[in-house]
Formats: sequence, structure tokens, C-alpha cells
Amino acid sequence: MQFKLLIDGKMVDGARTLDVINPATAKVFETCACADEAQLNEAVAAAKRAFPAWKALSYAERGAFMHELADRIMARADELGRLVTAEQGKPLEFGLHEAHGASFMLHHYADREFPLVQLAETETAIVYEQRSPLGVVAAITPWNFPLALAVMKIAPALITGNTLVVKPAASTPLATLLLGEIMSEVLPAGVINVIADADDLGAALTGHPDVAKLSFTGSTATGKRVMANAVSTLKRITLELGGNDAAIVLDDIDVAEMAPKILQSAMLNAGQICVASKRIYAPRSLYEPLCDELARLASEIVVDDGTKQGTQMGPVQNRKQYERVLELIADSEREGTIMTGGKPLDREGYFIAPTVVKDIPETARLVREEQFGPVVPVLAYDDLDELIERVNGTEFGLAGTVWTGNPQRGLEIAQRVETGTMWINMHMASSFEVPMGGAKQSGLGRELGEEGLKEFTQAKSIFVPI
Ligand code: ADP
Repeated sequence: MQFKLLIDGKMVDGARTLDVINPATAKVFETCACADEAQLNEAVAAAKRAFPAWKALSYAERGAFMHELADRIMARADELGRLVTAEQGKPLEFGLHEAHGASFMLHHYADREFPLVQLAETETAIVYEQRSPLGVVAAITPWNFPLALAVMKIAPALITGNTLVVKPAASTPLATLLLGEIMSEVLPAGVINVIADADDLGAALTGHPDVAKLSFTGSTATGKRVMANAVSTLKRITLELGGNDAAIVLDDIDVAEMAPKILQSAMLNAGQICVASKRIYAPRSLYEPLCDELARLASEIVVDDGTKQGTQMGPVQNRKQYERVLELIADSEREGTIMTGGKPLDREGYFIAPTVVKDIPETARLVREEQFGPVVPVLAYDDLDELIERVNGTEFGLAGTVWTGNPQRGLEIAQRVETGTMWINMHMASSFEVPMGGAKQSGLGRELGEEGLKEFTQAKSIFVPI
């Protein structure tokens, strides 16, 4: 078998096998190794054994391994990107982005370090802060960005001296297993272990007594189970969870100019992005023209197999999600008006026509729940204060956007929204320097930035007499 697990430096067969479906055909196209609980335990034990030696290296020494790894990922980016597209469904251009991004991210973190810093000087002592690694990190990823999200956890964990067990989602294991193979050629045995599961080892991994830190990206419901599992040994946790992000449109926009960007913020990756716009709020004066323009643009999106040139949107990633999105669309048909889309494409695979819904009440499921698919509701508002209440009236708080002809007005509105990130007249802009994470039930802790890096470390203050 081509796709094996990485345990203790070796590529090994799984105790079980896992069939992987291409969402563009809904058919099995590959089979990979799948771990059982005994192999999971071996992986954790290997990471634990590798920890002291990896921790003892200098930042520069660990960084050298990571630069080498980044180069090898770039050399195989085409293969990795094609795998992402085959298992995830996204257009090839975006599969390749993930592979290239993985390499860039490793290069970036390879040059980071936490030297001893002086925190304070008292009458009797100089106080230093040391940052040490935590131990074995469990990195658990979802199926929307299998490669990018894995490396977003791997890179900061490695440079700070931790070792890892990485577990991809059961429907997108392949790119991560290939990444495991590439890592096995570079890193010392046990520093990284990659296992695939049948969506059934998450609890054993997150509850394992030898795992010190859980870095999880996925749904809010599963995130709560992860948090509960952290309690027994007081594991450190970083949770990147769901969102119900609002796109707030102000009354000073040029509809023709902004509508393509607003739609893109909802439809990118077929809407399967935690920070996708999931509710669009338009001022009453622009409501009809904006709805018309969004529907027109949505009807023009080229939906097809991600490997086909010219494809702008691929299928929904898996059957469960496909059925859930269709259920939300059926509910929206009863509650509102479907302007375009509203049905699956008449072909094999999990394709859904990009759907825009208007005249739907705030209480509808499509507005209250996270759809995570290519369907978006557009709602009208009359008053900005009332709008902010509606935007904040959710348990989620991940991100959001403001669309305006005057970015200063946008800044004022953005400050009133309860989320971890706001973008004005842009979406998904990010930087390795900027921390990312959720407010309320959208998460705990941060990834990226200095803050995100610190989450893979333990701080210690040391008082040295003067
Ligand atoms: P979905 O509901 O769309 O499948 P999840 O948030 O459940 O998304 O999945 C994200 C990741 O969490 C996957 O890798 C999945 O296997 C894993 N997972 C599922 N259940 C648990 C659990 N109880 N503890 C830890 N991880 C889990």
C-alpha cells in the first residue's frame, strides 16, 4: 500500500485500512493505512521517547531540520496539491496553494526562537523568563484544509521543541500521510508521528495521559469533547472551532464593485471555511440590488471537478456535509426565497449549485446555524445599532467582514463586533505575525503570531540574585 502511517520514524501498514472517496465522483479512489488504538499508543510512546533529545537541540538546529523539510515539501508540492484536490475537492490552484503555503510556513517558523528574556529587575534579583516546550502535542485537523491546517500546528510545535502525533480527518487522510512520508526522510525518529483513523481515535488521543497539549481545529461540538478530555491531566488546549460570520454591508458601497468580493467571502472553498461569510446583512436601501447582483454572480460560478481547468468551485467534501447543506437549503425554501441554485448538480459527486437566499427570517436555521457549504442568506437591516445586536446575537464569534466606501466607518463598526478577527473590504487576509482565533464558542487560544507560538510553550520565571 502506498499511504502508510508514520510511527517512530518508520512508514508502517495500519492494523486496518481506510477507503478514501473522491468527492467529485462520490467513489472510492484510494485506500490507505488506518491505525487502531494500539498503534495510536505506539505513536504517543514514540513521540514521548523522542522528546528529550529534540528538546535538547538549539532553535537553530531544529530550524535546520525544518528548512530541509520545507524544501522537500516544495519539491513535491505538485504531488501534495493534487492529492489535496483529489481527496478534498477544491480546484487544483487551491490544492497547490496549500502545498506551497505549507513550505512557506515551515521556513517562517524555522527562524523563530524564544531566547531567555529579562522580565524585571527587583532590588534583589534580575528576573528572566524561559520558555520551554510542553512535550507531546496532539494535532487534530478537519477536512477543509487538510495540509495547511496540519502544518499550521506542526511548524510552531516543532520549532519550540515539542514532538507530535498528527491525526487528519478520516475523509482527507492522504495528503497528511504523504507529508508523513516526507517528514520521515528528514526528522529524527518519533519527533513526528502521523496516524489516520476511521474518525474513532480522537477520544483516545485527546485523553491520552502522555499527551501534554491538544491543538484542535474542527467543529464546536467536537471541540467541547476535546476540552472535556483535557481535564484529566490538565492538558494545554488550543481550539479553532466553528463560526457564523456576518458580512456587514454599509450603505455607502458601490454594489457592482463590492458584490464579487462579498460573494467570494461566502463561496470560497465551496463555503467550507470556518471564517467564510455565513450571513450577509445589507441596508434596506441596497437590499434588492445587492441580492440581484449576488444571485447573478453566483449563477455564473463554474462548479466542476477541481482537477478541470477553469473550475472555480468544487464539490462539498463528504456525503454527511452534502446532505446537511441540502437539508438547510430545503429548510430555506420553506422559510425564504431561493434566488439562484437551491439544488444539487445533476451529476455524480457531492456538487451543490451556489445558492443565494433572500427574505429569510433571522430565526431560520440557515441564519442561526453554521452551514459550511455553498449557500448564503442575505438579510436586510434598517438601523446600525439593531444590526450589531443581530450580528452579536450568536454563540459563535470567529470573524467577520465590513464592506464600505469609507474604511474609517468600517473600523468603527468592526470594533463593536464580538469576534477574533474582522476584515474591512477584504477577506481571509492573514499574516504569520497576526494571531488568529475565536471569541465565545468559536474557540480558545490563538494560532499564528507571537501569541500562537507561545501556546506551544510553558513559561518559567527565574530569579537570579544581583
Ligand atoms: P465533522 O463533524 O465535520 O466530522 P469534527 O470537528 O468532528 O468535524 O472533526 C474534526 C477532527 O476531529 C477530525 O480529525 C475528527 O476525526 C476528530 N474527532 C472526532 N471526534 C473526536 C473526539 N471525540 N476527540 C478528538 N477528536 C475528534
